[in-house]
Amino acid sequence: MDELKQRILKDGHALNQQVLRVDSFLNHQVDPQLMHAIGEAFGKYFRKHHFDKVITVEASGIAPAQMTALALGLPLLIMKKQTSKILKGDMYKTPVHSFTKENDYHLCVSKKYLKAGEKYLLIDDFLAYGQVVMGVKSICEEAGASLGGVGIVIEKSFQPGRALVEEQGLDILSLARIKSLAEGYVEFLEA
Ligand code: 5GP
Repeated sequence: MDELKQRILKDGHALNQQVLRVDSFLNHQVDPQLMHAIGEAFGKYFRKHHFDKVITVEASGIAPAQMTALALGLPLLIMKKQTSKILKGDMYKTPVHSFTKENDYHLCVSKKYLKAGEKYLLIDDFLAYGQVVMGVKSICEEAGASLGGVGIVIEKSFQPGRALVEEQGLDILSLARIKSLAEGYVEFLEA
């Protein structure tokens, strides 16, 4: 998606070879016009499937996922991140490790929002090591539902997440694929 790539080049900031900051339009301040275009792009691609809900993980996935849910006419379900080991009952939960933030948390969601036999589309802001995707997939399966597609705004293709998602047989669309990062420098996979 050209508009997104141009915006990353203009306003993104590569901290080092591993981490890209996009605080001015996606992770802290949000550009609604760009989110709308992102939602339309995911909607156009994933319309070929029948999904029952769009799922995302708080907080940075919410803006693009909301616009995707709107484009597809589906409800949006937000999985919560909790660092506390004390969790309320009636929740599905699974541990996730963040290599980027170097912390551990639980992904959790109320049992009343996942239904056996349903199929879901996950939208997230970044794909790095694929830990969020694997966590969401395992929660869906615990509920007897399935994860059928993954839409990623920014994929860091030099990290192992993409291969892991493909190994699971999931249909994945990443709107910007980054080949490499260096301090102050971003290189995309496609020309
Ligand atoms: P994964 O689960 O694929 O290892 O990591 C994806 C999650 O980590 C995303 O939900 C995102 O919040 C965070 N993340 C991974 N890499 C980056 C990055 O380079 N920049 C930002 N802002 N977040 C990242």
